[in-house]
Amino acid sequence: MSLTSPWRADFPGILALAAEGQTYLDSAATAQKPQAVLDALLGYLASGVANVHRAQHLPGERATRAFEATRGKAAQWLNAAGNGEIIFTRGTTESLNLLAYGLEHLLQPGEQIVISELEHHANLLPWQQLAKRRGLELLVLPLDDTGSVDLQQAARLIGPRTRLLAVSQLSNVLGRWQPLNELLALARTQGAITVVDGAQGAVHGRHDMQALGCDFYVCSSHKLYGPDGVGLLYGRSAALARLQHWQFGGEMVLDADYHEARFLPAPLGFEAGTPAVSAVIALGAALDWLNGQDHAAVIQHEAALHAELLAGLQARDGVRLLGQPQLALASFCVDGVHNADLAHLLSEQGIAVRAGHHCAMPLMKGLGLSGAIRVSLGLYNNGEDLQRFFSALDNALELLR
Ligand code: PLP
Repeated sequence: MSLTSPWRADFPGILALAAEGQTYLDSAATAQKPQAVLDALLGYLASGVANVHRAQHLPGERATRAFEATRGKAAQWLNAAGNGEIIFTRGTTESLNLLAYGLEHLLQPGEQIVISELEHHANLLPWQQLAKRRGLELLVLPLDDTGSVDLQQAARLIGPRTRLLAVSQLSNVLGRWQPLNELLALARTQGAITVVDGAQGAVHGRHDMQALGCDFYVCSSHKLYGPDGVGLLYGRSAALARLQHWQFGGEMVLDADYHEARFLPAPLGFEAGTPAVSAVIALGAALDWLNGQDHAAVIQHEAALHAELLAGLQARDGVRLLGQPQLALASFCVDGVHNADLAHLLSEQGIAVRAGHHCAMPLMKGLGLSGAIRVSLGLYNNGEDLQRFFSALDNALELLR
């Protein structure tokens, strides 16, 4: 019997795409939104907007209350020690750039930033550029055959010069949880600052910041079934206190003169300018929606879909999986077939998957590939989506081989 999703009917976008003949298997890039998020967005926009924090009028107070309520929900969702540990940014990419600027003054020439081979460009380029600016070494931890950071090598390579570790929780290409606890422990032994890129991991499971013990954790609303244009930056309060301000303008100022200014501490000191008020409010609705679901049932459904995806790919001749994916997605290539040609033929049959380097060019180069196809799942996908994908894949491969 085909797997059904009890959440599918809650997502107008997935239903609209299906009505158009489109099978959406690209949720790792961005996820569809539940009705509750659309309602929150429209509800706020239609009831009279106002800017937050500065106004002494009712609409302004109302907008500020709703905006700050999301901060509280995010803090609770991540089990932060307080609402002040959540900074709103425009996404994971902006959060990581904020950190690369905000932490710059703590790093001295000759010291080391450590990342891994599987990092998304968002968790590579800000550190690479910081390393260039400050004369630092960027050290890249190798992977084992499964697609996880090799812990033996990590233990050998992380050392007294390591001042910062920035690693992904879940790879957007290889679909594997990374050994975060072990890596964070190695970094902490050296007194290094720890940054976790939760862009892919955040939506799968509940992540407890106090238990994890990282200094910073970043993720994007649009991959959490929330609107785009918003990111969360969690920072342990002691770590936030060491951040240097990076963007300057309204909202973040304590006192300003023509030649001098003093700035607010986190979180507001790192939220310069008018934030994405409507999107932040709607992110609150996305978190409420996620909290309202049977979490164990979601995990079980996603695991069953993923098992079906892997079994189908492994059953096909010439299909090569990248690493050993554990959940949410699988990337593959096909001997003798260019990924762009395959993606094109899949798209012609209404299958929305992603092809290319997945913003991880160095990883692809290391694997000797110019790109791969990635199929990624949301909780609204069902067995029929996978059947349509496999039948389109078989048609495409028949044409291409
Ligand atoms: N990190 C990882 C692992 C990702 O998968 C992504 C997006 O796909 C990002 C960072 C960047 O996220 P955003 O584009 O929302 O800033």
